[in-house]
Amino acid sequence: MRSVSHYPGSTQMTPYIIDAHEDIAYNALTFRRDYLLSVVETRRQEKDTLNPQRTGHTLLGWPEYQRGQVAVIFATLFLAPRRYQAGAWETQTFADAAEARKRLENQLNFYRRLCDDHPEQFRLIYNKNDLQQILEPWEKEPAFLPDPAVADPESEPRKTMTHPVGLVLSLEGAEGLRAPEEMEEWWQMGVRFAGPVWAGTRFCGGSYEPGECTREGYALLEVMASLGFTMDISHMTEASAVQALDRYEGPVIASHANARALIKGAQGERQLTDLTIRRLVERDGVMGVLPYNRFLRPGWADTDDRQLVTLRTLAAHVDHICQMAGDALHAGIGTDFDGGFGWPAVPYEIDTIADLQKLAPLLAEFGYPDDSIAQILSQNWRRVLERTLPET
Ligand SMILES: [Zn+2]
Repeated sequence: MRSVSHYPGSTQMTPYIIDAHEDIAYNALTFRRDYLLSVVETRRQEKDTLNPQRTGHTLLGWPEYQRGQVAVIFATLFLAPRRYQAGAWETQTFADAAEARKRLENQLNFYRRLCDDHPEQFRLIYNKNDLQQILEPWEKEPAFLPDPAVADPESEPRKTMTHPVGLVLSLEGAEGLRAPEEMEEWWQMGVRFAGPVWAGTRFCGGSYEPGECTREGYALLEVMASLGFTMDISHMTEASAVQALDRYEGPVIASHANARALIKGAQGERQLTDLTIRRLVERDGVMGVLPYNRFLRPGWADTDDRQLVTLRTLAAHVDHICQMAGDALHAGIGTDFDGGFGWPAVPYEIDTIADLQKLAPLLAEFGYPDDSIAQILSQNWRRVLERTLPET
């Protein structure tokens, strides 16, 4: 297997990863998941609970971030409108603006507490300087944390080396806001990315309710752009995404979505059409591909043979974006891990997020050189962050 090495300013042999979408607070507050623990430990604790049945087995844990070189995560504030509540157990929903506000603040406070109490594990990134401080150690030396399950007593013991993981706050769906002007308060509280919609259709059409941008939607876009938000089009319909990409004056991304053209039988609006991808690329946006089997093979069920979907399928989505763009500067990863699914609903090679590194040799097989692979794994998101985060 070839090693991926040497991108500008770095001597490390494995590129670090920036993951553009994880619903950490939602899971911590809904299922009491403690992401300081390893995946094995969380799965052990949840063995006799209903969590695996409701949301799949966890794919995330701080030790796995270290082993997978996951340096930065776009961490969401996410609530579902109450009409989409999956069951009484799903606490992170809202009926009105007052409830949305309270619950979103709870999620924000969860991240602040996590980072205040465990600064060696997690740190919030609000500005360029925070980003630089997080990335510096990852660029100097890869993290190394022995895995007790695979430790080889014969091998020379290496020194444990861990780095804090940076969290950038992202609001997934603005539907619960009282008014577009409220975005200013979320910016002040440290949120830097925002998607206008999750379900739809207050501001624009979304994944569950088709439609176009509304008057209030355009007003929201104007407020977001004036504050400096990066707009995330992941959950927009094609019609509203194209309208918003035409109108939005600030930076744009799709944090977690796949290419609809590659998914035969894909229903609904959740994946991006080639038209949307083309417009996103024209605006120099980056699109994070999502390793969820149902978004790679429609109708996939947890009882299906896991070998039906592999990381090669995901690599094909990366390749589709790169072929359309004509370069490797617009594709990234946005796992959406633990976002309503978990193991086994992920490509065959993935047991935990640490296995994302297995995407690198597959991209090499597609013909991508090392520097392009580094761009896809982290450097494209890094470029977005460096361009869009405020100075202080
Ligand atoms: Zn989502």
